[in-house]
Amino acid sequence: MSEEIRNNLHNILTRIENACISNGRQSGEVKLLLATKTVDAERIAVALQTGQTLIAENKVQELKEKYEALKPIPHTNHFIGHLQSNKIKDLLKYEVACVQSLDRLELAEKLHQRLLFEKKTIEVLIQVNTSGEESKFGVHPDNALELVRQVAKLETLHIKGLMTIGLFSSETEKVRQCFRLLKDIQQAVIAENIPNVEMKELSMGMSGDLETAIAEGATIVRVGTAIFGKRIYPDSYYWNENQ
Ligand SMILES: *Cc1c(COP(=O)(O)O)cnc(C)c1O
Repeated sequence: MSEEIRNNLHNILTRIENACISNGRQSGEVKLLLATKTVDAERIAVALQTGQTLIAENKVQELKEKYEALKPIPHTNHFIGHLQSNKIKDLLKYEVACVQSLDRLELAEKLHQRLLFEKKTIEVLIQVNTSGEESKFGVHPDNALELVRQVAKLETLHIKGLMTIGLFSSETEKVRQCFRLLKDIQQAVIAENIPNVEMKELSMGMSGDLETAIAEGATIVRVGTAIFGKRIYPDSYYWNENQ
C-alpha cells in the first residue's frame, strides 16, 4: 500500500516536471496539492513522509477526523470543498491556511466576521465555475471580477488567486478552454490593480488534466485519484451541497 502511494507520487511528480519542461516552465513554479477526500490519515501520512507538504479536504468533517493523527507531521492544509456558512467556526479550528473554494460574497462576509472575532486572517482563492456545469460550484465567470472587488474589501481575507475545476471531458480542447478562461479572468483582475489582491495562484488541473492545466499556467495542481487510487463515492457527492 505504502509502496503504491510512493510510486504514484513519483509518477505524478514526473508528469508535472515533464509538463513544465514541454511548456518552458520551471518545475518549481507548480505546486502539488494532495486532494485527500476519503483517504485515511495513515495513507496521507505516507505521502507526507515522502516530503509532500500541501494537502486539502473537501469536507470539514474529514478535516476534523484526521486532524490529530496528522498534526505531528509538518504540512499545510487548504480547503477545496463547498463550504457551508454554518461550518466556518469548525473549519477555523483546524488550521486551514487557505480556502480555495470561496465563491460567494455571503460566505466571504461570514468568514470575515468570524475571523475578526478570532483576530485571525486567512488566504483565499476565488473559485470560478469555468465549465458551466451545474454540478460544480464557483462564481459565474462574468461575476468573478466583481466578487474579487467585494472580497478585497474584507481585510481578514487575503486573495491569492483563482481556482477552478475543469470540464470532465476527454476532449482536451474543451478542458483547455476552462483553464484559459481562468487565466483570462486572472489577467482582468491584475489589470484593475485592486488593493489587498494578489493574483499569483491559479489552482487548476487534477489527475486527468494536469498537463493541460500546466500548459495554461497552473501554479497549483490538485491530485487525488492518481496518488491514492479510485474513491468509492462519485465526486458529485463532494460537490453537491444537498448530499
Ligand atoms: C477530488 C478533487 C480533486 C482531485 O481530483 P482527482 O481527479 O481525484 O485527482 C481536485 N480538486 C477538487 C476540488 C476535488 O474535489
